[in-house]
Amino acid sequence: MQAIEHVIVFTVDDANTVIDDATILIDGDRIAAVGRTGEVAVPPDAEVIDCEGRFTALPGLVDTHNHSSLIRGVDENLDLVDWLPVYDLEHRTCTPEDARQAYRLGYMECLLNGTTTVQDMHRFMDQAAQVAGEMGLRVFLAPYAADVPPYDFFETSESNERLIRDWHNSFDGRVQVEAGIEDVFYSSADMYRRALDMHERYGVRIHTHGPEHAEEEATARSRFGMSIIELLRSRGFLGDFLSLGHCVPISRSDMDLVAEAGASICHCPISAAKLGCGTAPVRDMMAAGVNVSLGSDGPIDNNSMDLFQEMKVGSLMQKVRYADAKAFDATTMLRMATINGARTLGMEHEIGSLEAGKKADVILISLDHPSLRPVCWNESRTETNLLWALVFATQGGFVDTVIVDGATLVRHGHLTRMDEREILDDAQRQGADWMRRRNAAAGRILAPIRD
Ligand SMILES: [Zn+2]
Repeated sequence: MQAIEHVIVFTVDDANTVIDDATILIDGDRIAAVGRTGEVAVPPDAEVIDCEGRFTALPGLVDTHNHSSLIRGVDENLDLVDWLPVYDLEHRTCTPEDARQAYRLGYMECLLNGTTTVQDMHRFMDQAAQVAGEMGLRVFLAPYAADVPPYDFFETSESNERLIRDWHNSFDGRVQVEAGIEDVFYSSADMYRRALDMHERYGVRIHTHGPEHAEEEATARSRFGMSIIELLRSRGFLGDFLSLGHCVPISRSDMDLVAEAGASICHCPISAAKLGCGTAPVRDMMAAGVNVSLGSDGPIDNNSMDLFQEMKVGSLMQKVRYADAKAFDATTMLRMATINGARTLGMEHEIGSLEAGKKADVILISLDHPSLRPVCWNESRTETNLLWALVFATQGGFVDTVIVDGATLVRHGHLTRMDEREILDDAQRQGADWMRRRNAAAGRILAPIRD
């Protein structure tokens, strides 16, 4: 048993309960109890972390759209449709070792920033399964599969199926494999059919890209005679097993289709702004009944993986979009980064909030940062200004402790199981080499997909 005592807890339960002096009791990989300190019976032999009121606990954050990579700070200042062919260079030259080091560096970054679950779409994902298994975080692995020439240098349906057979539900269920599809321009109708087959045969979820930029949506309408969401529906893809990245240009009727199907949307506010896509109409999506979670979209188009930034920027962009300061308060953003993310992955009964019976995915944030003080409470000590500081004034680097499945993976801001210096040095060496190979392939940039 482990007990985290005298901590300020944001449970993110249905009532958004906050407890000013709480104890979280952990039994193995699950939360046994969350309640006021003194009211939770702590066994005498429990291992105790005494937070002395100087830490706050949140559910582990859930990054529902990410692309691991060692390539960052290039392909800058490009709109999505012009950016994609340049981005493809990293995939033309990616080796299993490139991918392995990308997973080590990326998952280290995610964990240190308080992200305990990552939905990742990249290459050679058997490496991701092994790295995540060893590091201890939760991952949902959706291979970047594409088959339309000349985009047939990505993963295949065969490699996706092999990944499912070899790694789905491994490492005590922390590693989940999905059927992954790039998008309607990179992947053929046959590849969509085969992804659906994998969903039916193995019970795996499906992750793909929805419409990201208005130009893409216009090209889809001219090529397929319908919107991207309508095309996905015609291919049998709309269901509660599906999560869609982005969906920035999306009509009200397409939102209704997504909502009716019970599919989720992974909103990536920073990446959408950076690639000139605009701001997704998240308030309308939610009004239509769509579950919307947050994603970082990975290092190449963000350029970091810190869901605290995503919460702040996401809120600000919705306020701008609707010219409404009341839009997207701190509670909404915190729910998007936690319980909504869990729902996107079909895990809302297991993770995403701090409640008895759920998996023990907990992060502790130090309050010893000037931007988080002073912490004030209402008279009944049920509401605190700390909520807003967590969403608008916290950086991932404030995270002190990260617990996944009851195991402490980060303590005092450092990985407990892995050698950080080795990960950084390996990533430096491999990344510089990958960048050289990528740059050498620059003569082979394909034309943008544009009609
Ligand atoms: Zn993406």
